[in-house]
Amino acid sequence: MRTFPIFVSFDGKPPLVVGGGELAAIKTRLLLKRAEVVEVSAQEFVPELAALAAAGQVVQVASGPGIDQLRGRPLVIAATEDDQEDTRVSAIARALGVPVNVPDRPELCTFALPAIVDRGEVTVAIGTSAAAPVLAQRLRAWLERELHPRLDDLAKLAGEFRGLVAERLPAGAPRRHFWESVFDGAAAEAMLEGDESKARSLIGEAIEQASEAGKREGRVLLVGAGPGDPELLTMKAVRALKVADVVFYDRLVGKGVLEHARREAELIPVGKAKGAHSVPQAEINALLVERAKAGQTVVRLKGGDPFIFGRGGEELDALRAANIAIEIVPGVTAGIAAAASLQVPLTHRDVSHTVTFVSGHEAGGKAPSFEHLDLKALASGNNTLVVYMGVTTGAVIAQRLLEAGFRPALPVIAVENASREDERRVATNISVLAAHPDSLGLKSPAVLIFGEVAGLPAAGVVETVLAHEEVKHAYA
Ligand code: SAH
Repeated sequence: MRTFPIFVSFDGKPPLVVGGGELAAIKTRLLLKRAEVVEVSAQEFVPELAALAAAGQVVQVASGPGIDQLRGRPLVIAATEDDQEDTRVSAIARALGVPVNVPDRPELCTFALPAIVDRGEVTVAIGTSAAAPVLAQRLRAWLERELHPRLDDLAKLAGEFRGLVAERLPAGAPRRHFWESVFDGAAAEAMLEGDESKARSLIGEAIEQASEAGKREGRVLLVGAGPGDPELLTMKAVRALKVADVVFYDRLVGKGVLEHARREAELIPVGKAKGAHSVPQAEINALLVERAKAGQTVVRLKGGDPFIFGRGGEELDALRAANIAIEIVPGVTAGIAAAASLQVPLTHRDVSHTVTFVSGHEAGGKAPSFEHLDLKALASGNNTLVVYMGVTTGAVIAQRLLEAGFRPALPVIAVENASREDERRVATNISVLAAHPDSLGLKSPAVLIFGEVAGLPAAGVVETVLAHEEVKHAYA
């Protein structure tokens, strides 16, 4: 018999057991696990049935039941132990569409009785389609050991809170997550340990928290992580990391910086290295919007300052278009950090009155022409140029500066990994750099500072690549 498991309600007419013997008593006892009353059709009862009848749990009805006694029953068990009578009852029940079971006579049954693990509200029914009843018994024994005896209390308690949770939390994922956290958490533990009042107050608190979180508007903080040294984080950046539900961070963000994030925060790298965009910008924008819409506090952590060559502007546009609350937390940009480390001022009363931050890398990954830079104008004054993403294009800039009329000995100083333990500095001038593009031996990330200030005395170790021989030496 192929069967489908369901749980039958006994709220209407009581189930009927036909027969007054031992077998009928066993089946009656089984039904009484859920039925308040079982009607038993027999002329005489064994003592157990008589006792149940005296207790009001069994109601005796006439033996030899016909159509009227069977109609409308949730189910019938024919257990008279008289083959002819059981067959007759089964035939009437089937004709009426009433589910019927005759013990050990599968051909007379329309349903099978499962092996049951009973924890009140939590009931496990095991069936093997009569193929392996012993296996079903083994499974039942195993589940009896595994399922906590107070599981029923826990289910009842959850049942009591169901209405309130439905009122306070939206259907779907939020409600499901809430219940998962209850059953996996301290509330369930307390209940299974028998501490009902603690469990109640924990569930109450969890409902409050979950509904507050649901009402909370999500937001995105575009946070500058500085050049790498966590000491260069702003207090606002640290505070943002402490409240973040999720942090999307760039490759350039230092490891020590991430250690300030809240322990429970999800940390998601969306690292971008030149030429290897691991997560496309449009996808990052979509992720930020999605998380904020789900009510989360999202930190978008970017190296240096979020608005200096960090595509922060694009993220800002996407968030504004989606009506998401935004906060910008500025950071120490790499050029400023490099200058501080060198103890070289980017502007100086005597030598430089302006400073220009330039990208050595154009959108779309093309080799930059620097046409948008008015180098002539810059050449006429005392200016400082700070070039980002210029490791491979620094020499082109040096060439353009020479063409624009800058003096050939104009100093250049490059700082690799500014503020990090592996910081490295190399000084040269534009004519050497223009003629020997690889002379500085730079690796990304590095900034190049072009201008008279780059020739001012610098603190710390500076490699110098100036004369031709030294260039050769640097290659050797
Ligand atoms: N928003 C960042 C810049 C992102 S563009 C900022 O404000 O600093 C990436 C470029 O920044 C790198 O190619 C490099 O030129 C520069 N950069 C970032 N961190 C650096 C560091 N620690 N030292 C030197 N240059 C760095």
